[in-house]
Amino acid sequence: MTEERHEFQAEVGRLLQIVANSLYSEQDIFLRELISNASDACERLRYAAITHPDLIAEDPELSIVISLDKKKRKLVIADNGIGMNHDDLVESLGTIARSGTMAFLDQLQDKTGVSQIGQFGVGFYSAFMVADQVEVMSRKAGDSKAWRWVSDGEGGYTIAGTEGQNRGTSVVLTLKKSATEFLEEDRLRSIIKTYSDHIALPIVLEGKEGGMVNTASALWTRPKKDIDSEQYTEFYRHVGHSFDDPWLTIHHHVEGKIEYTLLLFIPSTPPFDLFDPQRQHRIKLYVKRVFITDQCEELVPPYLRFLRGVVDSEDLSLNVSREMLQNNPLLTKIRAAIVKRVFRELTKRADKSPEEYSTFWGNFGAVLKEALYEGGEQSADILKLARFYSTASTEKLVSLEEYLDRAKEGQKAIYTASGDDLGKLRQSPQLEGFMARGIEVILFTDPIDDFWPARVGNYNEIPFQSVTHGIADLESVAKNSDDEKLESVDDVDLDTLIALLKLNLGDAVKDVRSSSRLTDSPVCLVADESQLDIHLERVLKQHKHIDNTAARILEINPRHPLIVALDKRAKLEGAATDLEDVAHLLLDQACILEGDPVTSPGDFARRLSSVISKCL
Ligand code: ADP
Ligand code: MG
Repeated sequence: MTEERHEFQAEVGRLLQIVANSLYSEQDIFLRELISNASDACERLRYAAITHPDLIAEDPELSIVISLDKKKRKLVIADNGIGMNHDDLVESLGTIARSGTMAFLDQLQDKTGVSQIGQFGVGFYSAFMVADQVEVMSRKAGDSKAWRWVSDGEGGYTIAGTEGQNRGTSVVLTLKKSATEFLEEDRLRSIIKTYSDHIALPIVLEGKEGGMVNTASALWTRPKKDIDSEQYTEFYRHVGHSFDDPWLTIHHHVEGKIEYTLLLFIPSTPPFDLFDPQRQHRIKLYVKRVFITDQCEELVPPYLRFLRGVVDSEDLSLNVSREMLQNNPLLTKIRAAIVKRVFRELTKRADKSPEEYSTFWGNFGAVLKEALYEGGEQSADILKLARFYSTASTEKLVSLEEYLDRAKEGQKAIYTASGDDLGKLRQSPQLEGFMARGIEVILFTDPIDDFWPARVGNYNEIPFQSVTHGIADLESVAKNSDDEKLESVDDVDLDTLIALLKLNLGDAVKDVRSSSRLTDSPVCLVADESQLDIHLERVLKQHKHIDNTAARILEINPRHPLIVALDKRAKLEGAATDLEDVAHLLLDQACILEGDPVTSPGDFARRLSSVISKCL
């Protein structure tokens, strides 16, 4: 038969270079990946056979067989699963399917190493860590023709028809010198036992002491007391294509009107595609131990997509179709139960170990907050679980409950400030008046924080209020210091100065007014009640949702020596023209404090030079 030669996709070539240079100590993960693929292939066949029993009839006992030929240095991982035809081989073993994968792989190179490659959907290529040559023989269930795929991991591979392969796939590795340990039965047995014990199919090692190596029962069906944390971890890594430890494990069997088992995990590090626009979860749905799908949207809401694990239902019918999964009342119940249970466990953790909980919130809080924006019925629970940075503490995150406990007498709102960078945010001039009065301000740094407070409105009937939006009515809040910065300025009349600034600035500002927000800075910008908040507008502009930004309100600090001096000057003759440059410089300064560019750098430079020369 003729042999075709194919080149690897460029990304695969680069990936293989990373794999070839990988650390010696991580080599044994190749076996976990190949066994995981064999097990997936068997699960897919079992599912297909529900509707097409003839696919499995000739050889119904699914298993994975591992065999060795020491002399020829060959290690074979064989399954009798779904198999691959010619096009499947080209598609699956020559390209990288998921977009964005390569960018993350590049980071891997210098960071944590290849033990993570399973999570990117490229686990197969780990075979080239240990093998000079990889040969894949496969016959797809239902086909009569078999194929042989061969590669040395450099440049490309060949495909040709072949004889003698039964249904399923055999991966034949010719091991490198450095991988001789994998020709030892004992070594293989111990790896399989550690990594793959939970695989719900027999894994048979052919050899002197041959036989089944694993327990071959689905882990979630075993009693909790018989499962140790290492077994949970290995299962989590398998089911979630993960490399870290689970941060939280929920294993729960429900009997009653409906019967199902949950084995769910929350990762301890965020998965690489957490913010993929598809917002897909990866929970696997089983029915009576048969894998059905990992794309059942109804099973878990998008804001819990960081969960990993399995749901096994006793009540759904085995040949349930995609359509039947939509609006299925059983699934709706299971989904509600998952949400409830996850929230309950999170609340427990938050109470018991706040620090660990903060780590979780740092990883996944932004995802949970999507539910606030969507306005679902879970909002109340999520607001309780939410944690924030604030002006009151530099490291510890605070809850809204704590915030309100500390609120000042007369305080009418939960004050918030948004920014991209926590450090810069803490320096915002708009915070000065709040800090001086000891009023805590919550600091928002996730992009979603610009959106949900408007949707949610309030917490415990106290409204959220951005410090850069609308009027800050701080005079009504009790003062607890006799800080001179806060001395009453009722006697300062800035009317003349304000009129003059408005005259000079024209349309460049929406308004000019005296501020209770400021203590140290002379000026700041705020958005009018009727406008978008400043940070939100900036985000929308960055993403090209809006073209132009609106003119802002310029607030001036009645206690600042510069403003006091300007006010005096404003009352003298000829002030209107004399202060033109100064008016614009004040506005430019406020823009710079906001992190925004000045309207016209040329004018700014000219005015600054002119004002400085007058002083000299
Ligand atoms: P992943 O398993 O995450 O999809 P891999 O790189 O491990 O990524 O495998 C790529 C693809 O190759 C699989 O999705 C599957 O379609 C195919 N494949 C690999 N091994 C087998 C096998 N033993 N039987 C059938 N298909 C396989
Ligand atoms: Mg795989």
